Amino acid sequence: MAENILIVAAHSDDQIIGVGGTAAKYVKEGFDVTTVIVSKGEISHPHFKEEIIIDTRKRESIRANKVIGGKAVKFLGLFEKDFNKEVKIYKAQKKLETLIRRLKPVKIFVHAPEDPHPAHKKTNRMVLDIIENERRKIEVYSFDIWNPFRWDRKKHPKLVVDTSETFDTKIKALKCFKSQFNILGFLNFFALATMYVKNVMNGRKYNTKYAEVFYRLR
Ligand SMILES: [Zn+2]
Repeated sequence: MAENILIVAAHSDDQIIGVGGTAAKYVKEGFDVTTVIVSKGEISHPHFKEEIIIDTRKRESIRANKVIGGKAVKFLGLFEKDFNKEVKIYKAQKKLETLIRRLKPVKIFVHAPEDPHPAHKKTNRMVLDIIENERRKIEVYSFDIWNPFRWDRKKHPKLVVDTSETFDTKIKALKCFKSQFNILGFLNFFALATMYVKNVMNGRKYNTKYAEVFYRLR
């Protein structure tokens, strides 16, 4: 049976920006890759109705998952406004814990602990809290969406993944997020540009065309 890899992202699209090339590569190598999206991301477009956004973003993630060849996308369904409500967080965390127990992933990818976005940070906390009680060895790696931010990376072992062969797949998967990446959504456009530059720079640093770099948290 194939070993599982889990990606836990706060928002629909974070998983591809952060881990897209790596996820597609692991699929090619025979792993089962499952993605968990924590938030409904309902406030990403204030001028559209909430339920339309939620539904669209869900469909975009499912489509992108097909592109990278992932096994499944699970939605924890937390509202963006619930990220500071302990009870809601607890419920979502329980769901995630059940999934982790069932899948027994060998690796988990999650947002970096110092990510300035509150939902990203909380998502990281949820995963680390769950893993803390886990006796089995699970490698946890951080990816980042927003750069630069300061944190002590030096104490964390690095995982460099050459994504030259799956970079096209990553871009194809990103194109599924039409609701997020339009020219008016400047912030998202900025995230995309940052991602592109980062993947190229990492590639240069590690003597390949494109690379994604992660830091081991546990
Ligand atoms: Zn996000």
